[in-house]
Amino acid sequence: MMRAINLKRLIVASLLVAAAWSAPAAQRSTASAGATLFEGARLIAGDGNPPIENSAFIVESGRFTRVGRKGDVPVPSGAARVDLTGKTVIPGLIDAHSHIGYMKNLTSGPQNYTRENILDHMYRFAYFGVAASQAMGTDFGEMPFQLRDELLAGKYPDAARFLSAGRGLSPIEEISSTNMRHSAFVVTTEEGARASVQELVPRKVKLIKTWVDDRGGAVKPMAPNLYRAIIDEAHKQNLRVAVHATGLADAKNLLRAGIDVFAHMISDVDDELVALFKEHPKTTVLLALGAPRRTVYAAWLNPPHPLVAETVSPEQIRRLQGRLASTTPDALAAARQAWDRLARGIVRLNAAGVRIGVGTDGGGQSGDQFIGWTMHTEMENMVAAGMTPAQVLVAATRTSAEVLGLDDLGLVAAGKSADFVVLDANPLDDITNSRRISRVYLRGAEVDRAKLKARWSGGGTTH
Ligand SMILES: [Zn+2]
Repeated sequence: MMRAINLKRLIVASLLVAAAWSAPAAQRSTASAGATLFEGARLIAGDGNPPIENSAFIVESGRFTRVGRKGDVPVPSGAARVDLTGKTVIPGLIDAHSHIGYMKNLTSGPQNYTRENILDHMYRFAYFGVAASQAMGTDFGEMPFQLRDELLAGKYPDAARFLSAGRGLSPIEEISSTNMRHSAFVVTTEEGARASVQELVPRKVKLIKTWVDDRGGAVKPMAPNLYRAIIDEAHKQNLRVAVHATGLADAKNLLRAGIDVFAHMISDVDDELVALFKEHPKTTVLLALGAPRRTVYAAWLNPPHPLVAETVSPEQIRRLQGRLASTTPDALAAARQAWDRLARGIVRLNAAGVRIGVGTDGGGQSGDQFIGWTMHTEMENMVAAGMTPAQVLVAATRTSAEVLGLDDLGLVAAGKSADFVVLDANPLDDITNSRRISRVYLRGAEVDRAKLKARWSGGGTTH
């Protein structure tokens, strides 16, 4: 068997050599037998190691098969070649917390939640170099699970992978017909909470979403016995639990109850919280800094960054500009204080080695958190809060893939799906270089960004 393959390879290789005898290198590269060599880029693999300058990696059948230094990587005969000299490659980014299918130009709500709108959002993620995103507890009906399976199977090659937590679990006080918890499971008893978790098991969700927040005293938060039942039942079913909880006391009790993921940064950090995180080293915090920070900093909006102008309608951009411009001095001062406190907390958690991933709350109903774009502002905000670009890139790739159980994403490494972003500049020098996107590849195939951009040009709406 081996011999037959080698013989066949030898014949193919000799034919290619003969055909390419007098052809220039670029022409020869088109004689591909399925493998493609990408060479010359600075490679940031997502594992936290220093970048590989002048790298080479091979993609075959949608996967990385070899990764190393140019000249050290054996190249299959007949491999196509792509010269990435001067570029920087990072793994496909992962947004582990978003709300998919609700936002549509100036409106946001369940009325927009269609297959077409979810798909549009997944195209947006791909356009921005995001390979996968997790909708956090705001999906309903069977449609999202069907679409999820189609997207995971690669039916839409230019779209990011869509993960769903299905319906989240919420106290009744948090639910209204127009908010994103309109279809949540209402949690009133421990038995009911367990039954709701069990209902999600056959939908093959990986995460359960729940809310434990008093909304500044406006609602009664979920009682500890109820979220303990949710977490316990989820763990029995081999599922993880992500919580919206920002209060310090709630966060401590959730850690004691074995929570897996905080979907937002906790508003205060003290010694006891740090100690509890150290006792629960697998618990991950997704920071979701976009809403808290944009009141105090949104340089990307004035004027709008080209990627925003290309994907968001002028009226939606103007509305956000107006909202931010109308911030009162008191509100601005409060926002600055809140941001500074968040940043101090992030520095402490990061220094203590707490696992930090990236989740942006994109598409959320605090308004105009543009799908896909929020990934790039989130990474900038994390650096502004005190993390290094290298740490943020690991958080945005390997860690977030681990949080979502996406074993084949998050790294440029042999065996992983070939999802990567080619950048024109190095994000380790300046994290906003993540926006200088040259090309995006999903499963080894280049995303047709020009075609996607044309969908959104002239208004940002596609349908
Ligand atoms: Zn959210």
